[in-house]
Amino acid sequence: MKPIIKVEFTKFIYDEKITYNKRSYTVPFANSLLDFICMNIKELLTSIDITNISQLDNLFNKDSMLIAKIFYADEIKRQLQNSDLSNTDKNKRIKKILDIIENKQKLFSTIIHFCFLLNDDKYSYERQLDKLIFICNKLGYSLEQPRYSYSITTNNIPLSTNLKLDNITETTLNEFDKEYLKFKQTNHSTVNHYENIIYTCESVDELFCIEMLKIFERKYKVLRCKNCGKLFVPARKSDALYCDRNSPQNETMSCKRFASQQPQGVSQLYKKIYMKKSVRAKRHKDDFTITNEFEKWKTQVDKKRADYNKGVITADEFEKWLLDNDK
Ligand SMILES: [Zn+2]
Repeated sequence: MKPIIKVEFTKFIYDEKITYNKRSYTVPFANSLLDFICMNIKELLTSIDITNISQLDNLFNKDSMLIAKIFYADEIKRQLQNSDLSNTDKNKRIKKILDIIENKQKLFSTIIHFCFLLNDDKYSYERQLDKLIFICNKLGYSLEQPRYSYSITTNNIPLSTNLKLDNITETTLNEFDKEYLKFKQTNHSTVNHYENIIYTCESVDELFCIEMLKIFERKYKVLRCKNCGKLFVPARKSDALYCDRNSPQNETMSCKRFASQQPQGVSQLYKKIYMKKSVRAKRHKDDFTITNEFEKWKTQVDKKRADYNKGVITADEFEKWLLDNDK
C-alpha cells in the first residue's frame, strides 16, 4: 500500500500541517520537503546497520527525515526483513533505494535552483509556473498534482443527514442558498478558496508539486542558508539570509542566531583583502603574475567561503587561511 500524507495550508499562517498515520506534524512552510532535498544520503548509508533488525523502527528518526521516513523507510525495511536475501544483496538493494532518493534530491534541487536561485526579479505566479514547467520539460520530468479536498466543510457547514437526492426541490436549493449567504457573512474572513485545502499526497513527487505551487501562490522564495547551505523559505524578507535549523557549528542554536552572534571580523577581513587584491590587479592589468595570482586566489577563496558558510570550516580557520594567503 502506498503511504498517504495529508498536507494542509492555512491562510496567513506560515506553518503547514502534515498528517500521516493519524499523527500530525506542524512544520514551517515547505520545510519538510526542503529537509528531504538537503538530507545527507551518504551519512544515512553508514547509519543503517543491516544486521540489526530491531533498529529498523528508528530508521530516519530525526524530524528532518520525516518525508524520507514516510515514503522510503517501509521499502528499506521490507528489503532488510527479506530472509531470502544475503547480506550482500540486502546492502545492494538498500544502496539502490538510497540512489533513488539521491536522484530525486538532485532533480528537485536543480528545479528549485532554476526557479528561485538565479538572478531574476520578475516574480509572478504565472512566470514562476512557466519556469517550473519549462525546466521540468527540459529534464523530462512530469509534475504530478495531488488530489485535494476543501476543509471548510468540517465544522461550519452542518451536513443534511436525512436529505435524499430525489427529494431535493427548487425550494430546498433556495433554502441552501439562504444558508450559504448567512455562512458567507459570518465566515468571509476565514474562507478562502486557495487556502484551507487538504492535499492528499501519495508520493514525494506529488508533495513537491504542491509545495512549489503554494510557494508561487504566496510569492515566497526558496533561498540557500548562508550558514548551513540548506534550502529554506524565509517567512519574512528580513530573515532572508539564515534558516531556523540547528546550526552545524552549534546544535543548540539556529543558523540565524549563530550568525547574529558571529563577529563580523572574518567577513570584513575577506572584503578588505579582496578589495586590496582587486585594486592591485586592475592597476597592473598587464602583469600576468599579479592578475593570475588574483584569479587563482579568487577561486580558492570562493571555495573557502562556501566551506565557511556551510560550516565545514570555522570562522577562525577561515580567518587563518585569509591571513596566510594575503601576500
Ligand atoms: Zn541554516
